[in-house]
Amino acid sequence: MTLVVQSAVSLRAYNTFGVDVAARYWAEASDDAQVRQALDAARDRQVPLLVLGGGSNLLLTANVEALVLRMASRGIRVVADDGQRVEIEAEAGEPWHGFVLWTLQQGFAGLENLSLIPGTVGASPVQNIGAYGVELKDCFLGLTALDRRSGEIREFDLQDCAFAYRDSRFKRESGRWIILRVRFALERNASLHLDYGPVHQRLAEQGIEAPSASDVSRAICAIRSEKLPDPAVLGNAGSFFKNPLVPAELAQRLQQQHVDLVAYPQADGQVKLAAGWLIEKAGWKGFRDGDAGVHRLQALVLVNYGHATGQQLLGLAQRIQADIAERFGVSLEIEPNVL
Ligand SMILES: Cc1cc2nc3c(=O)[nH]c(=O)nc-3n(C[C@H](O)[C@H](O)[C@H](O)COP(=O)(O)OP(=O)(O)OC[C@H]3O[C@@H](n4cnc5c(N)ncnc54)[C@H](O)[C@@H]3O)c2cc1C
Repeated sequence: MTLVVQSAVSLRAYNTFGVDVAARYWAEASDDAQVRQALDAARDRQVPLLVLGGGSNLLLTANVEALVLRMASRGIRVVADDGQRVEIEAEAGEPWHGFVLWTLQQGFAGLENLSLIPGTVGASPVQNIGAYGVELKDCFLGLTALDRRSGEIREFDLQDCAFAYRDSRFKRESGRWIILRVRFALERNASLHLDYGPVHQRLAEQGIEAPSASDVSRAICAIRSEKLPDPAVLGNAGSFFKNPLVPAELAQRLQQQHVDLVAYPQADGQVKLAAGWLIEKAGWKGFRDGDAGVHRLQALVLVNYGHATGQQLLGLAQRIQADIAERFGVSLEIEPNVL
């Protein structure tokens, strides 16, 4: 099918912050051929190509002078199955949570802790999505991507992707690779990760002593729904800042001043601090300036109450960063991609 390219399309419905900016050109690709056509179309129009999934990890601060290509390819298939371990391949445009539910319905465990994360399968490796003690890399097998420089299709294994905390090669080499499909290794009888946050407690409250992967998924969906604002109701991009890694000496000094500091020592000697704790302690939780604000229940989440611009949201983020640096000597890094 020939790619349809539209002009001057509002992106409001295509980013979970609900920021109202326009794309100079817009297209949706359902297969590899259409992705290639989009690259040609962008070249012909002399604009860059911006790949978009669900727009749930983006802050758009101005009209996008590019051809915005939404990945709309669909398809999930079992590529290997030895009765215990299965290998699954999913197309980039598959909605992430729907994909997780599909794996659980088949009886495949591994992705349950990543339930209800918005966005697409194709974007999931970009920041190595993670939640409740599990990261994408824990079930990752490989992916297929198009190199925009050479036009070649390339296969990546776990090592090639250089996954780290909310980071990967694809985030660092932003704009080079278009992820077309991703492969996962799942298990029929995987051990479950229940120790992180209130997962275990939630299951115990429900009287579930020997949970299945689907039970864990349901518990996590319930916890997330209580804790995080639904972007369909209140614009947001989830956690707006990464949890900062600081030297042990700084963490110790802060701990002396604040006995309730939330800190996780890392294997490399650094200490990970909870960005949400720092922001809340500094008094930003529930702060609102016009339509840009900090969520009243979750200090790590910036929200758009209606008509905030990307610049206003970014301005608020920068005020928070400056305040946290001054109060605690900690620099906060923004998690979403700012455009
Ligand atoms: C309410 C809420 C909760 C969230 N919770 C979590 C969480 O628990 N853990 C977590 O890790 N994240 C979380 N996020 C962030 C977000 O959901 C993830 O980062 C998700 O993977 C983004 O997917 P997307 O399809 O929306 O990507 P987009 O926002 O569309 O794109 C993000 C980046 O990836 C690039 N990209 C997208 N698709 C491709 C592709 N096929 N090939 C190459 N590059 C591509 C884009 O160009 C952009 O730079 C949350 C967001 C929200 C709104």
